Amino acid sequence: MALSPYLCPITASQSVTAQAFDTLSSEARALLWYHEIEHLPSHTIAEFLGIPHDAVALRLITARESFTASWLDLMRRHSRTPALCSDVLSSIPQYLSDTVHPPQRDTLEVHLTTCLRCALVVDEIDNLCEHLDVTLLPLVLGSAAFPSPFTSTC
Ligand SMILES: [Zn+2]
Repeated sequence: MALSPYLCPITASQSVTAQAFDTLSSEARALLWYHEIEHLPSHTIAEFLGIPHDAVALRLITARESFTASWLDLMRRHSRTPALCSDVLSSIPQYLSDTVHPPQRDTLEVHLTTCLRCALVVDEIDNLCEHLDVTLLPLVLGSAAFPSPFTSTC
């Protein structure tokens, strides 16, 4: 059966997501897993990882930024991204966690209103991070646990 051009990018995107998750440190993966998948309270996460309770929130931000940066880096490498867009995308992890300075934020937002390519990438990673549980669980447990409705087509 022929591959559907509409379904295979989903698989490619999941592959990039799995690769990005794999690039994280074991602590970052554990933080994201415990917080996003298991929805454990921060004191339990701190106890499991042997870190101070008040460090969990900051390390979660760092883990999300690392995941986003890795995902964006992989997406840039898998596609032909113009230099200007590549520079913009390298700042997106900080943009999404709201840690960029106002002048840089303004520059990014102007680019995102004029560049559909970057706007779509940012929308995808933002959506991905909002739904990490739905994204990561099948990647970690395998597709057999969560068969894709597209499996028979792709
Ligand atoms: Zn762009």
